[in-house]
Amino acid sequence: TGENRDPQIQPPAPAAKGRRKTMAPPDLNKGSKRQSFAVKPPEIQGKRGKFAEGNGPNNKFYQMIQEFKETLQMAPMSVDDIVESRRICVCVRKRPLNKQEVARKDIDVVSIPGRGSLLVHEPKQKVDLTKYLENQVFKFDYSFDETATNDLVYRFTAKPLVHAAFEGSMATCFAYGQTGSGKTHTMGGDFHGKHQNSTSGIYFLAAQEVFSLLSHRKYAGLDLSPYVSFFEIYNGKVFDLLNKKAELRVLEDEHQQVQVVGLDEVFVTKTDDVIKLIEMGSACRTSGQTSANANSSRSHAILQITLRRNDRGSTLYSKFSLVDLAGNERGTDINCNDRSTLVETAKINGSLLALKECIRSLGRNSEHIPFRLTTLTKVLRDSFIGENSRICMIAMVSPSMVSCDYTLNTLRYADRVKELKTSKTIAA
Ligand code: ADP
Ligand code: MG
Repeated sequence: TGENRDPQIQPPAPAAKGRRKTMAPPDLNKGSKRQSFAVKPPEIQGKRGKFAEGNGPNNKFYQMIQEFKETLQMAPMSVDDIVESRRICVCVRKRPLNKQEVARKDIDVVSIPGRGSLLVHEPKQKVDLTKYLENQVFKFDYSFDETATNDLVYRFTAKPLVHAAFEGSMATCFAYGQTGSGKTHTMGGDFHGKHQNSTSGIYFLAAQEVFSLLSHRKYAGLDLSPYVSFFEIYNGKVFDLLNKKAELRVLEDEHQQVQVVGLDEVFVTKTDDVIKLIEMGSACRTSGQTSANANSSRSHAILQITLRRNDRGSTLYSKFSLVDLAGNERGTDINCNDRSTLVETAKINGSLLALKECIRSLGRNSEHIPFRLTTLTKVLRDSFIGENSRICMIAMVSPSMVSCDYTLNTLRYADRVKELKTSKTIAA
């Protein structure tokens, strides 16, 4: 299906020979040219056999996708790319296939040629059982492939927001996607077995930047102090992750200021303080987790770094919120005999829809921001109002064929958020 392919990702013209054709993970790139099969040395054949060999049910699709990928000009994101400063930024990150997926011969159906584009090669079958691919193209501000590190993702997403916060902006960075797509990995840091290395996550990288900017000559005169709070929204209720999950009330005062009453705000003086709080809060969040539908994937976690002015009675200067959203998988896919699960799912879907509407309203510079609809949007009200709000959404996707529908859902949602975004580039 050639019609819906982006002009940027047409097969490279012969003249474009000098261009680097960087490719994705090695085992995905081996030997999809049929004519070369016979001449491959045996050890290479062995390697490429990971998904393509034998009679795996996805073999045909794997080969079709490989053939398509061969035509793509790949230019993955790198530190050399320009960081654009946008009021609303929407990007996508694809994680690598994991061991279980490889073991069950699942295949990678997502390509990221670069420059913000992403393709989903959706496996389909005609009535006569002929297999074909429906290749769908999406375009975002940035697209990160499976080789991107948290550092690289941070550089283009949260980092500009930390700088904006020092200029007085209310900034929010969201991780959105299905459970298992990499939200917590990106925000909180990568896992080594059960242990999460929080120094590799965006929470920590942002905190580090905050401390370095506090002592920067440009901002030192502002006399700011940083505070950290960390809370969770589950079933519309707020729980303090830094205070043994104490349930907190959300109130709106007569000036329409939304307050989370009694939320712990911890004054921090160094990055170590922040690591301790991240670890304490994360442990609190996941404790008691038993199943795949454990609370941590059904709740939104919000880490806030608040900057206050020492010389003005600790008045609020700006706030930076990092939000690890609840999994966006639809309720129909969970075992839904249980009323509380249905209510939970309805709450999650409701809050994610409201969030999208709030961001769209912000993008339109609309007077009316529908923040009152859900607890999530209520507590983030500050972030949706005023000239100074800055938002970044990172949509996380799994590469696997099994997750294809979820991936498409995630991408469509992110696309809707982006659609009405002010294309205007703001000076940094
Ligand atoms: P979510 O929070 O969206 O449910 P996680 O962040 O817990 O998903 O990720 C699920 C699993 O995938 C974890 O084991 C995590 O370490 C792994 N993972 C996620 N993203 C990546 C990535 N970019 N690179 C390597 N592993 C990843
Ligand atoms: Mg998670």
